[in-house]
Amino acid sequence: MGLPGPLAFTLEQVSESRRKGVNPVVEAARQNAEQYPKREKNKLKKRGFEPRPGHVVQAFVYTLDPGAGTEQNLRSHCGAARTAYNWALSHVLAVWDQRAAEASYDIPEEEQTPWRSWSLPALRRAFNATKREDPRFADWWSENSKEAYNTGFANASAAFDNYATSKRGERQGPKAGVPRRKSKHRSRLSCRFTTGAIRCEEDRRHINLPVVGRIRTHESTRKLHRRLANGSARILSATFSHQRGRWQVSFQVEIERAIRAPARPEGAVGVDLGIKSLAVVSDSDGQVRQVENPRHLGRELKRLRRASLRVSRRRGPDRRTGQRPSNRWVRANEKRNKVHHRVANLRTDALHKLTTGLACEYGTVVVEDLNVSGMLKNRRLARHIADAGFGQIRRQLAYKTAWWGGRMIVADQWFASSKTCSQCKAVKAKLPLHVRVFDCDECDLVLDRDVNAARNLAALAASMTGTGVAGDRGARAPKARGADRRTRTTRPRRAAGTGRAGGAKPCERTEAGHRPQDTEQLGLW
Ligand SMILES: [Zn+2]
Repeated sequence: MGLPGPLAFTLEQVSESRRKGVNPVVEAARQNAEQYPKREKNKLKKRGFEPRPGHVVQAFVYTLDPGAGTEQNLRSHCGAARTAYNWALSHVLAVWDQRAAEASYDIPEEEQTPWRSWSLPALRRAFNATKREDPRFADWWSENSKEAYNTGFANASAAFDNYATSKRGERQGPKAGVPRRKSKHRSRLSCRFTTGAIRCEEDRRHINLPVVGRIRTHESTRKLHRRLANGSARILSATFSHQRGRWQVSFQVEIERAIRAPARPEGAVGVDLGIKSLAVVSDSDGQVRQVENPRHLGRELKRLRRASLRVSRRRGPDRRTGQRPSNRWVRANEKRNKVHHRVANLRTDALHKLTTGLACEYGTVVVEDLNVSGMLKNRRLARHIADAGFGQIRRQLAYKTAWWGGRMIVADQWFASSKTCSQCKAVKAKLPLHVRVFDCDECDLVLDRDVNAARNLAALAASMTGTGVAGDRGARAPKARGADRRTRTTRPRRAAGTGRAGGAKPCERTEAGHRPQDTEQLGLW
């Protein structure tokens, strides 16, 4: 049985590509580009770097333990990046204001002050021309690496690009406004090095960055160092940042990835995400596994509340009065941050274990297309959903299935996985959230609702590969990430004016009719 579709590889294909030296992931991307030319073009425009065939770009993150002097150095670089960002903003925006003023004096377009480019090279050139004279930078710019300023300019350039594309309607997601200045008190400390002597030291306990010098790492860099030593990895850039009270460095690395096949390339698995149990996994052999929801945040909430209460009882910073925090507040705040840090680490670890396990076992993984940001608007569920990390599961599965030579199918947002009977395919009209057991109206099936949903998703994979019964109305085509069309054409649409007929339906109801996804998603677990 072959696995058709852009991200599908059979064992023969894998061995074939191994012989030819072609990376199936790259090949799939090329086929994908042919299928969706416009989308792929937009992607290419965004991503500057294309890994060599047989390679992928992967991050290696290490926590740092810098000494006092080095930490000062790191802070200086991050501050320089922020200053450069703010300088670039004023540099570009000054002309906008000037031109607006000139236009108000009826100065013709061609005589107005010319626009200033916000491209990275242009910003760099303009800054280099003034940095020696400008009293804001003259005394100290040479203390930091040029990469610090470059970080600020690159970010500013990207921010202006985002604003421009968003304004032209070429950008997905929420509208991006005119870039705003970064505050010294709020912005995250971060700086990126792309050139120079970025190294992992021989002792596997230190890294080296230009100008900053040697920094002690908290853990061994063995995994990265070994790959650098045998030539199967190449560092592209290093970004250090200060998060939750600790410094960390993230290496962007181009590594050679052996073409592998999952343990069961023919096997398909349906993953139904939920809150009661994090995931219900049902594979094509009919085996069902419940992955318990670890509820990391939920477990630590009590401790977190106590820590927060202690913080609130001490004298914190106040920007209006310029009051500085007391030492006792700083200590209490650090303790509170530690709880957050722990929760985030536990969650990351659990999610990686779950997604790696799925991707290296099954050839096909089916997940639902959840509108996570929409679900987070539900006040009662938001915390639980954010704690579970649904968005991460989907993102990690997407790249991990590609690494292991499998594929991920994303079931359409309107695919009624919970409401469909996994035995006779009859679809229920309604299945409220509190009903935990699926009881089919047509046949004798009585099943846990999440298990039923997971089975439907696994069956969807079979329908895509042509081995099983085709899925129901929603099982037409997987909706690729970023695709802007709805695959289901029979979306219930309210005929004009029906909501108001006789004034029977209140306004809220008709609005719910417009957004069927809300009821659909809440019916998932
Ligand atoms: Zn049934």
